[in-house]
Amino acid sequence: MEVREGGPEDLTTAVGEGGGQVIRQPCRARGDIAVKGDDHPAGRIVVQDLLGECVEDVFLCGLPACHGLSVTPHADRRVVRVPAPDESLALTVNEWFRATGRDLPWRRPGFGAWGVLVSEVMLQQTPVARVIPRLAEWLERWPTPADLAAVPAGEAVRAWNRLGYPRRALNLHAAAVAIAEVHGNVVPTDLRDLLALPGIGDYTARAVAVFAHGQRHPVVDINVRRVLARAVDGQAEPGPPSTTRDLAAMDDLLPLDDAEARVTNAAVMELGAIVCTARAPRCDDCPIRDRCRWRAEGYPDYEGPRAAKQKKFEGSDRQVRGLILAELRASDVPVSQREIDAVWPDDVQRARALLGLLADGLAVGTPDDGYELPS
Ligand code: SF4
Repeated sequence: MEVREGGPEDLTTAVGEGGGQVIRQPCRARGDIAVKGDDHPAGRIVVQDLLGECVEDVFLCGLPACHGLSVTPHADRRVVRVPAPDESLALTVNEWFRATGRDLPWRRPGFGAWGVLVSEVMLQQTPVARVIPRLAEWLERWPTPADLAAVPAGEAVRAWNRLGYPRRALNLHAAAVAIAEVHGNVVPTDLRDLLALPGIGDYTARAVAVFAHGQRHPVVDINVRRVLARAVDGQAEPGPPSTTRDLAAMDDLLPLDDAEARVTNAAVMELGAIVCTARAPRCDDCPIRDRCRWRAEGYPDYEGPRAAKQKKFEGSDRQVRGLILAELRASDVPVSQREIDAVWPDDVQRARALLGLLADGLAVGTPDDGYELPS
């Protein structure tokens, strides 16, 4: 899509079906880029491709005689007008977060984009208290992506220790290599560049773009999904995840202002983590209790579909993989098949766990040569 400066046109032209050219100029009042033209309410213009993915997102500041928008027909773009959100819910949560949010390392000024990236990967499936010391060790040992990229991937797996889901260590190492080699050792700012990093998924890319670089994107984790399900949809549980639907729901809540939107992302996450918890929501302490639909409707039981429950860890293949990996981490030389056989009594399950580690690249080796972490 072409975006160029100048050229006042009627906004209604833009909001019609079809169109792919947006004309923008700096907004005098807000000091950033807005749409050029006359007299329109605040809101956003979203240009989507045919799959509904947003390819351009333009804010309208709502001031008359400041903006306008021109769109010319384009076969594979459509322009959608998005009204300004009701920001009051978000701003209430922001106020609560500013007063009560936990002081966590990655929230402190100057923490750095690399630290945010590492912390977000670690936090995805590991509690905050276990992440904090390991994160500090990692950043001391590997203060930049190039430092991590310079060591074998197996060192990342060794240092991951018992944080769980150790493929995340390999993913971080792969991302560090790409950042060092392709991006000059600087964590990219563009969401598309972040998404293109190996091993970096949608959640992490958005979290880095928002929390490290201050951009306005929705960031959705399980805590955010639960708060939205309860407060907005009146449902006890969020049901199975849907990236498109979940992102759209959070996007609807975000203030237009980048800085406030960033705080809202962190604040809703925090609310879900410490107040609106899965088993025992503390509604009396909730800043949006008077606006919560689930509470107002008397806490109805959830009757929708549920996400598949995770299997118990004890006795699972995950546990066996963890035991084998602990042997490999503890050794500087290849671990023999006989030593591997000693970690778990069930031959079939043990073999399956070992094969899984080899297939995932978390271990290398053969029964004759023994097994070790990847180089
Ligand atoms: S009022 Fe209760 S259920 Fe509603 S968002 Fe707050 S903590 Fe969650």
